[in-house]
Amino acid sequence: MPGIDDFTRPVEYLSPLDRSLGEIVRSWAEKEVLPYRREYDEDWEEHRLIEPAFDRLMGELGLQRVLFPEEVGGWGLGHSDYLGTGSYRMFEEIARADSAMAVAFGVVFWPLIMICNEPHVNMRLCEEFAPMFIETNKAVFTANAMTEPQGGADIENMDLLGGSTIETCAILEGDEWVINGHKLWPTNSAGVADLFGVVCTTSPGSTDPEEFAFIFVPADTEGVTQGKPYQKAGMAADKNSDIWFENVRVPSWYRACGPGDDFKYFKEIISLGSMGTIAFVSGAMMNIYEILREFCEEKTFRGRPLKENDDVAGVLADFVRDLEVIRVIGYQAARMMDRPDLYGDRWSEEMVAKTRAFKYFAADKAVENVGLVMNLMGAHGSDRVRDVEKHWRDLKIVQLWMGGKQLCQMEVARWFFDCETL
Ligand SMILES: Cc1cc2nc3c(=O)[nH]c(=O)nc-3n(C[C@H](O)[C@H](O)[C@H](O)COP(=O)(O)OP(=O)(O)OC[C@H]3O[C@@H](n4cnc5c(N)ncnc54)[C@H](O)[C@@H]3O)c2cc1C
Repeated sequence: MPGIDDFTRPVEYLSPLDRSLGEIVRSWAEKEVLPYRREYDEDWEEHRLIEPAFDRLMGELGLQRVLFPEEVGGWGLGHSDYLGTGSYRMFEEIARADSAMAVAFGVVFWPLIMICNEPHVNMRLCEEFAPMFIETNKAVFTANAMTEPQGGADIENMDLLGGSTIETCAILEGDEWVINGHKLWPTNSAGVADLFGVVCTTSPGSTDPEEFAFIFVPADTEGVTQGKPYQKAGMAADKNSDIWFENVRVPSWYRACGPGDDFKYFKEIISLGSMGTIAFVSGAMMNIYEILREFCEEKTFRGRPLKENDDVAGVLADFVRDLEVIRVIGYQAARMMDRPDLYGDRWSEEMVAKTRAFKYFAADKAVENVGLVMNLMGAHGSDRVRDVEKHWRDLKIVQLWMGGKQLCQMEVARWFFDCETL
């Protein structure tokens, strides 16, 4: 009988680690998350139940180490040919159980991309930060602090606005950066993360790429304060809050790549973020397929299983069609991240545009489909016992982040149509 493993994946370019990563994460998710995820949903403020589950995945099973180079005790994914496809598999398997857990886990890699990935490994910072992640059995998180009160989309709109709207300011005083600013929304804020990657400007209002700075700040540095977690519609395992930086001092060498290169490689964060988002979507949809399958076999209409009715079968087929396509483009995005020799640099405008196109297609289709699935299930779709309503709440949120749909559209149109003003 077909199941989730029968959806298409481009097997000819999967990571050699694919099977083992898949098995590790699936067995963790089935034991630690699927039976409890409804309780996790209520645990958004404290993370009393969520935290031990993360400890097992990230600390005990060691998955928080994967990106770091082997020389500092990592698994070397950041310089392997399987950065994209290896990450995709982990994120998708986690998202099948809980897309918010996949986000919180995926974001651990986000700022680390700046220092762990070839060809811009910053070995000094890898040596400095790797022990935090490697010498412990507890989950250790990072956060990527970009969004500010005046707008997140403009900050990510790198090629048009060149960082000119960033207000968080870093000034070099002797051998220290002094940082002042206010960030909103970073995944793993509200006290979860131990280390922040902070998007700053060294000259407010400037569009000069050399003034864009990506600086690491340990969360316990004097002058850092965080708010309480926001109460969102879903995504309970992902805590988000305000972060304030008030005369925060860190060593000058905590800047990730240096003038010009911080700007350049930050766009790799965008491409990989879009790719990861597709994995969160396809993972959640795989689980909706499982739930839907069971429901349409058990539930009858005029004496026949629901799935044996023409109209219902049409909805089921369209769902599968869209999941097939989302998965194929998700793995294609991952492959494009793995093979810059074939597809171009991960930080190129082309990769930013193409991965954003894939991402907003996937998110839009998922939101559309989960609505149709709920129509099909009727009142049962809203029943928390079945968990479809959880995916419905979570998937809507996926559509909104990283500048939302509008920024994706602007960046795609800009690259493919050579637009000059958006
Ligand atoms: C669960 C979750 C996790 C998140 N994680 C992170 C994180 O890890 N790090 C982080 O820094 N942020 C994070 N965010 C914030 C998120 O990325 C931003 O909310 C998002 O980028 C949009 O920014 P904004 O809310 O400031 O909206 P704005 O930028 O103010 O935009 C408001 C609306 O206007 C639209 N818009 C913007 N510009 C234009 C334009 N020129 N033309 C037409 N429409 C436009 C936008 O698409 C949006 O719909 C997260 C958000 C959520 C919900």
